[in-house]
Amino acid sequence: MEESKKIWNALLSEIATRISTVSYEMWFSKIEPLTISYNKLVVVAPLRNYKAMLAKEYHNDILFALAQLNTYINDVIVITPDEKSDYDHVQPVKEIESDASMLFNSNYTFDTFVVGTSNQIAYAAAQAVAKDPGNLHNPLFIYGGVGLGKTHIMHAIGNYILHDNPRANICYVTTEQFVNDFVESIKNNKDSEQNRKFRDKYRKLDVFFLDDVQFLIGKTGTQEALFHTFNDLYQTGKQIVISSDRHPKELSFLEERLRSRFQCGLTCDVTHPDIETRIAILQKKAYSKKFNISQALIYFIAEKIDSNIRELEGALSKVIFYCQLYNIESADSIDIVKTALKDDIDVTSHALSIDTIVEATSEYFNIPKNEIVGKKKMKNIVFARQIAIYLTNDMLGLPLATIGRYFGYGDHTTIIYTRNKIAEMEKKDTLTAMQIRDIKNIVEKR
Ligand code: ADP
Ligand code: MG
Repeated sequence: MEESKKIWNALLSEIATRISTVSYEMWFSKIEPLTISYNKLVVVAPLRNYKAMLAKEYHNDILFALAQLNTYINDVIVITPDEKSDYDHVQPVKEIESDASMLFNSNYTFDTFVVGTSNQIAYAAAQAVAKDPGNLHNPLFIYGGVGLGKTHIMHAIGNYILHDNPRANICYVTTEQFVNDFVESIKNNKDSEQNRKFRDKYRKLDVFFLDDVQFLIGKTGTQEALFHTFNDLYQTGKQIVISSDRHPKELSFLEERLRSRFQCGLTCDVTHPDIETRIAILQKKAYSKKFNISQALIYFIAEKIDSNIRELEGALSKVIFYCQLYNIESADSIDIVKTALKDDIDVTSHALSIDTIVEATSEYFNIPKNEIVGKKKMKNIVFARQIAIYLTNDMLGLPLATIGRYFGYGDHTTIIYTRNKIAEMEKKDTLTAMQIRDIKNIVEKR
């Protein structure tokens, strides 16, 4: 079999373990390997959309899958059939020295990371480590649920250190890779060449990243190896960064000595992002993808998808893809988002959102939605707008700044003023009180 085909098939089986079957069928099953150009695998996608999607959404998965394969191929180039001729005369180049910067995803940097209350401590600690590895927090132990940014933070540290010092001897491995490496090293007998290679590889590092250490469960041999690696690095002041889905104390399957080592530096967590952070993440991602999406829809997605950041990104990608597919210039109607995300959010039960409140207010006063969130100063419109603002604060308890931005006010002093004014009216004016009650009823029935 041709080399490109062999590598592509191996890559596919890795990728299949990383993404959903549906995405796999949709995005990977129709791709054909073409050739190898230098140390990159060139594959052909049937349509331009595939190319964009693979480059944007699945590039990480592809890179990670490649890393698992242990090949000289370090990237995949996706082309469309009309670009095939560009690759008529290319030659593969094998045995290119592995380059540390390949280990890190260039999109995972401090700049692309949105900081909020859920991750600010981990972020600050990571920056400190990146600026002065080995000296401040050693080891740095970051823990938290899936999709909350642990890997991103680790890569950001790696990218930063390599930018400062391209010669730094850095190694980033997933725990799986570390286990495989270790298993490989003891396959033969104990003092083999392989065994020495393993020791040398890890003990000569300046910075060592071990991702998802919870996967050491049941691997006692590797735990032992990690313990020695850890000690060697630690004693010589080399930086260690570890991530896990839980606090070291809860890694009960690890030997106590390893658990206590993990805690001798700084342990910090990443937790679920609040709505403000989710909004900021969506805004940043939409902006970086040059995708036009209305503020209201960003809020809608952020409200609906509160599980983790990976899902949040996935939801945005789906909306983008849907718009590309149907040549929609910009996402500005709630129906687009609802259709694109029909599998991800419950669109039948109207979970409460700002949108619902604005809709109900619009219906009640018979004023179009865009005027309620717009700038018109007519008395009746302003009043409806103020009621909507009041209800948003009252029923959703969103931060005032968030509400301010939604309704197009630069700062939230107007929101405070409005809230207090309507609250006062609700107490003193029976008509206003009745209107508020009626709209609440409409909202609650949705
Ligand atoms: P974990 O390793 O904790 O499972 P990842 O680091 O893989 O999570 O993050 C999942 C996805 O969410 C990645 O694409 C990452 O870039 C993105 N992400 C996570 N946290 C943030 C953040 N604070 N700002 C921007 N993107 C983030
Ligand atoms: Mg991770």
